[in-house]
Amino acid sequence: MRVERNEFRQTIFNLNDEFTTFKVYFPVVNCLKGVICLMFTGIQATFIGGDARQLEVIKKFIELDASVTLIGFDNLDSNFTGAVKKDLSLEVLQSTDALILPIVGTDDEGHVESIFCSKSIKLTAMHFKAMNPNIVIYTGMSKTFLREQCQSNQLQLTEILDRDDVAIYNSIPTVEGALMMAIQNTDITIHGSSCMVLGLGRVGMSMARALHSLGADVKVGARKPADLARIYEMGLTPFELQELSEQVEDVDIVYNTIPKMMLTAQILARMPQHTLIIDLASKPGGTDFRYAEKRGIKALLAPGLPGIVAPKTAGRIIAKTLSRLVNEQLANREGSS
Ligand code: NAP
Repeated sequence: MRVERNEFRQTIFNLNDEFTTFKVYFPVVNCLKGVICLMFTGIQATFIGGDARQLEVIKKFIELDASVTLIGFDNLDSNFTGAVKKDLSLEVLQSTDALILPIVGTDDEGHVESIFCSKSIKLTAMHFKAMNPNIVIYTGMSKTFLREQCQSNQLQLTEILDRDDVAIYNSIPTVEGALMMAIQNTDITIHGSSCMVLGLGRVGMSMARALHSLGADVKVGARKPADLARIYEMGLTPFELQELSEQVEDVDIVYNTIPKMMLTAQILARMPQHTLIIDLASKPGGTDFRYAEKRGIKALLAPGLPGIVAPKTAGRIIAKTLSRLVNEQLANREGSS
């Protein structure tokens, strides 16, 4: 039985460094001078593909004593002691407890991207069928193929970019990258410039706050009364999104965070030609890029900034969240079996 296979020892040190041990059915918990650190001893974690961010996650799982298998890391130079490189096979998936896919998951045909491998990696229906029914699959976001395969095989899929904590932590490198883009693409300082942020979500709020603290004159467009009140409370200028066309007339830099067409040709027609648009919303963004180009307005779509400007930090954010999630989910699973 799985419970027996995953029987672990929990060691608790008290403040006098005396210790006792007793058996538990969850990952090993080390509690040293009040600091709790959860261990993944006995957990089989398989990583398929990814980019530089994944290296931080792998490092963390090895540190937590998981048995780590790497698929699609053939060209990886760094030597992860304690991890084994393998080819994708049914056997590996059958024995995997936690499957970690890249932030972008798979494409609609099941291909998994890896910057560490020149071979193509493709997950098929057969792979999902072969998976351990208790597996937990982690990705940043999922496309239809991955969602459907998990649904039809009743496999647990967790999309971590959906989570508030991850989105808020990720807004930090996103905003730093967005500021860098403004600096690179304007001949004025952010300080003293007229900036607009569209949306007061996780990214919009961090963006507006950073611009304000750099001395920009910041207005923020939102649709909810509570958001308009929050913008006012933050010392910024709120406006309703319906007023967007009047609000763009004097703006130097616009940051869009709303994943919907906001900066239409009609709106862009009222914008000064020197305005720089940095569209942070997920592809295809919220800007009519064709019309912006025609009007001579510089408009840049800037996806995936955390992985570009700060892969190490972005990887650590994922690693921290994943290690907590894996522990909680595997512990719940064992507890209910
Ligand atoms: P979020 O917290 O959900 O915020 C989205 C904002 O857009 C909210 O203010 C929301 O307002 C508004 N919004 C959504 N649909 C709207 C609509 N139809 N009309 C008016 N307002 C609307 O999302 P987030 O985490 O801030 O992320 C924002 C975008 O940036 C996403 O597309 C995300 O994928 C992307 N992103 C990009 C990067 C990058 O590197 N470029 C990094 C992280 C995230 P309500 O609350 O009123 O719905």
